[in-house]
Amino acid sequence: MHTDPNCIFCKIVAGQIPSKKVYEDEEILAFHDINPWAPVHFLVIPKEHITSMAHLQERHAALMGRIMTLIPKLAAQEGCNPYPAGGFRVVTNTGDEGGQEVQHLHIHVIGGARPWKKG
Ligand code: 5GP
Ligand code: ZN
Repeated sequence: MHTDPNCIFCKIVAGQIPSKKVYEDEEILAFHDINPWAPVHFLVIPKEHITSMAHLQERHAALMGRIMTLIPKLAAQEGCNPYPAGGFRVVTNTGDEGGQEVQHLHIHVIGGARPWKKG
């Protein structure tokens, strides 16, 4: 599996930087965002160092499908209220113009009662 020793999220995967884990399996990690905008705000990442959504290859299709189907389960587990009155927001910033700050693909899952700090 490709990792980048200088990448902050690869360091979280390796346990070199602590995180509040939401979920983990062989290929996926989810953990609380350090600077949450809402009552629920966690990040879901592939353990493999994929720089951004712009770097996805056909071989990542099953992994990305697993991540997307996992998200509603984790959102409910972390306290997002049920659809349709509740729900959640899924965001993946990609590249400079997309507002990406950490160069390891991550999906923000944001939810819970409003108001939120952003969005
Ligand atoms: P981006 O702007 O790249 O989409 O989002 C990066 C996110 O990673 C931000 O929401 C930021 O709060 C979060 N983040 C940055 N460094 C850390 C860290 O060391 N630990 C955790 N848990 N979150 C981080
Ligand atoms: Zn990485």
